[in-house]
Amino acid sequence: MKKENLNFLEKIIEKDLKSGFTKKKLLFRFPPEPNGYLHIGHAKSIFFNFKLAEKYKTSVILRFDDTNPIEEKKKFIEYIKNDILWLGFKWKKETYASNYFNKLYFFAKILIKKGKAYVDDQTQEQIQEQKKNHFENGMESPYRKRSIKENLFLFEKMKNGDFNDGECVLRAKIDMKSPNMNLRDPIMYRIIKKKNHFKTKKNWCIYPTYDWTHGQSDYIEQISHSFCSFEFENHKPLYKWFLKNIKKKNSLIPKQYEFSRLNLNYNILSKRKLQILVKKKIVNGWDDPRMPTLAGLRRRGYTPKSINNFIKKIGLSKRENNIDISLLEFSIRKHLKKISYRVMVVINPILLIIENYPDDKVEWLNSENFPNQLKKNYRKIPFSKKIYIENEDFLEKKKTNFFRFSLGEEIRLKNAYILKANKISRNLDGSIKQIYCTYDKKSLSKTGFTRKKKIKCTLHWVSKIHAIKIKINIYDNLFLEKKSEQLKNYLDKINKNSLKTTIAYAEPSIRKATIYNKFQFQRIGYFCLDKLSKKKKLIFNKTVSLT
Ligand code: ATP
Ligand code: MG
Repeated sequence: MKKENLNFLEKIIEKDLKSGFTKKKLLFRFPPEPNGYLHIGHAKSIFFNFKLAEKYKTSVILRFDDTNPIEEKKKFIEYIKNDILWLGFKWKKETYASNYFNKLYFFAKILIKKGKAYVDDQTQEQIQEQKKNHFENGMESPYRKRSIKENLFLFEKMKNGDFNDGECVLRAKIDMKSPNMNLRDPIMYRIIKKKNHFKTKKNWCIYPTYDWTHGQSDYIEQISHSFCSFEFENHKPLYKWFLKNIKKKNSLIPKQYEFSRLNLNYNILSKRKLQILVKKKIVNGWDDPRMPTLAGLRRRGYTPKSINNFIKKIGLSKRENNIDISLLEFSIRKHLKKISYRVMVVINPILLIIENYPDDKVEWLNSENFPNQLKKNYRKIPFSKKIYIENEDFLEKKKTNFFRFSLGEEIRLKNAYILKANKISRNLDGSIKQIYCTYDKKSLSKTGFTRKKKIKCTLHWVSKIHAIKIKINIYDNLFLEKKSEQLKNYLDKINKNSLKTTIAYAEPSIRKATIYNKFQFQRIGYFCLDKLSKKKKLIFNKTVSLT
């Protein structure tokens, strides 16, 4: 039997199972903070967590990490859930860190009673300052030696709202000299009185920090393996320290393992930073098709399958890596090639007049909708005397290496006749106004299928009187710098030309498009009908080019 190629998370689990861990106890979680929309980095975490759960017949808990009422909102809960479902995954249970506020408060008191936590009256800036840096030991707070009794009393007052925001914090008493900065007496609670928490409302005046909440929530839920991205690696000793001090005998201590964060060239993947783009109106909302959010990608025309395949392909790694956007584009192109409906659209038109074609005649010709599918499927497209082709497809005098249309040359119109260009007329500025052609009636059979004749070039086209005007959005990267994620001044690197809007002319079958329908505009690229489209005002977003 062929040996299965296991990823490193699977190897860890296999090893644990072999050394006696009960399979039934396997349990994973995905813990987003509801402060924005999910992005493609989350898709990585989601994909591997849910695939592991599938493989080992267990489940994933969707835990909202709602410890900061300042930025978190209820509406983000719905968007996050919607996006996970869109990717094709279903969680077993939906939980909230705020469900555990009582327990966390109780745990904090255990630490105080053990003399391992204290109330500090300094400002967060002072505390930060005293932490120093990797090269210098931190300084102990003047409040570090407060008695247990005093700490319990003050913490109670913090909880009861007797202090104002910022007046004091609760800190763990660990080691101000630790080489791991996270162990230099980290803050466990801060006072936030004025904000309404979307779940617990005004019940709490103190809020646990992420570090104080995260490991304990995994512990309370008895998560067996907690997978996260590398930024949390240095926090692991802190999580261990917390749990060692509060854990009950025989309870399971979650194991944390890290994998590399997904970084995508010319993009930033952090909700906090993406939120700034939204707030500053640099983009038109979280689901702007230029955003690397799942909602943005969906609007741009990406499919869940293309995203999951991309994630699978890049795989899990322990090293920080920047993935090129072309890999994501490859994945969507591959899928769209199979599933997108073919249509003809002319973006930059020039008019052809077929002189030997009857003035009022209209023929409805057959055109294939999905050439890559086995079962043939056709639609009718109108042909008439006046036809639009792309300006770029015509050159008055043929040049070497120009295999398109020129005076005296023949081309085939896709699914239609062969034309020969005879003469042109000009605008006042000298540019070409119209091209006069003749068509070869015999180049199309009576049944409407093209007859074989060797012609080097086939052009897409649209009948002028039948053309539907549409709006198209064409995108470029949102950032100019490849590794914008790593830059402090990423806002200075915004590409001001990341969106170009233009008018195009489409064959009439486009009228049937519904929101999010995917099309291949032949010879141009893949496009998706935007959600802001109206019946008489169709808007398409370019997903990706053809190659
Ligand atoms: P924020 O900027 O607010 O911290 P975030 O983008 O880091 O937002 P979180 O809500 O903190 O998102 O992350 C939820 C989960 O998704 C975490 O387990 C985290 O490890 C994982 N995650 C976040 N970003 C990435 C990424 N780029 N690649 C892989 N996993 C990620
Ligand atoms: Mg984060």
